[in-house]
Amino acid sequence: MERNINTKCIHLKEDQGNNNHYGAISFPIYQTATFAHPGVGQSTGYDYSRLQNPTREHLEKIVASLESGIDALAFSTGMSAISALMELFKPGDHLIVDADLYGGSIRLFNSISSKNGIDFTSIDCCKEDVKKYITDKTKAVYIETPTNPMMNVTDIAALSKIAKEHKLMLIVDNTFLSPYFQNPLKLGADVVVHSGTKYLGGHNDTLAGFLVTSREDISEQLRFNIKTTGGGLAPFDSWLIMRGIKTLGVRMERAQSNAFKIAEWLEKQKPVTKVIYPGLKTHPAYEIMCRQSRGFGAMLTFEVKSKEFALSILEKVKLIQYAESLGGVETLITYPTTQTHADVPEDVRLKNGITDCVLRLSVGIEDADDLINDLSDAFEKTEEELYSGKES
Ligand SMILES: *Cc1c(COP(=O)(O)O)cnc(C)c1O
Repeated sequence: MERNINTKCIHLKEDQGNNNHYGAISFPIYQTATFAHPGVGQSTGYDYSRLQNPTREHLEKIVASLESGIDALAFSTGMSAISALMELFKPGDHLIVDADLYGGSIRLFNSISSKNGIDFTSIDCCKEDVKKYITDKTKAVYIETPTNPMMNVTDIAALSKIAKEHKLMLIVDNTFLSPYFQNPLKLGADVVVHSGTKYLGGHNDTLAGFLVTSREDISEQLRFNIKTTGGGLAPFDSWLIMRGIKTLGVRMERAQSNAFKIAEWLEKQKPVTKVIYPGLKTHPAYEIMCRQSRGFGAMLTFEVKSKEFALSILEKVKLIQYAESLGGVETLITYPTTQTHADVPEDVRLKNGITDCVLRLSVGIEDADDLINDLSDAFEKTEEELYSGKES
């Protein structure tokens, strides 16, 4: 019988009754660069840690199991994973990519992959007819859902149908919801990307990235890439991510429940002109979310009445930290304009709705009341300072 996700976060099925590692409950860190061979032409199964290391391999099996993939590869960062993925394409290939992507992915595509001769068409995959942009050179569609930071949602199963009809690889960056809430491979995607730095690690202390696939041919090419270009995750970092994953379920549930409370509170605040959280029934893709995911995550974006107001909030929060990144136990507030999306051309940024009044929260697992009090204090002080307590 298929095990449930919280069990899969902690146990690998094949480990049951296995007495290796002296019975250690925590998987050992094999901090070794190389492995001795028992004899000529013989191997322990490991030769050199760039190719594979037991600790990294154990983590990869756990992530493959969480995403229901046949293989998962662990990289030193999310960007290193996406770079390795781009090596599957050659000059002249064309990719259709979502317009509202993680800023680092946009930078990679625009400045490195395109230099290597790969062409990109960037469209709103949730609104536009993807079929219109497919040419005989198109090889893949690359999306995030919900997107960063505008929380646009694409129907993965519907897009996968189009991709299959045109023999395109469907790639989904699933960082925002984590495998706890969404499994794109089960909805027909071919490759799932994760920044393991975010929810999988969960503690804002380790960088990592993953590629998970449901296809044997893709797994084979990626295995060749990781051993050749050497972006594999180090043993100690593999162990830290493994440790983070053990609590993925409880962290996701708690962070989501906090996010709901904060979203509801923000909706009632006068200076807030918009709250974008896919768990709100007012979100345009609420129904798609209900169909394709088991939850709504803990990322929320909101817009305030002015740039000055936004900047002041960033300075006045005390418990909530003003920092890039997301998915950790600590609540972070981000200003996409100058942080995550600083390298995105201004016209593209504005077209995606990322104005200088937009703030993004990665809600952590602190007590929701304390987080709301922190925001409330920052709002009050800002209002006093900027508008001398008078309504603007
Ligand atoms: C952070 C992030 C990445 C990049 O991952 P790193 O681990 O920072 O290299 C890619 N995609 C999304 C959605 C992210 O949030």
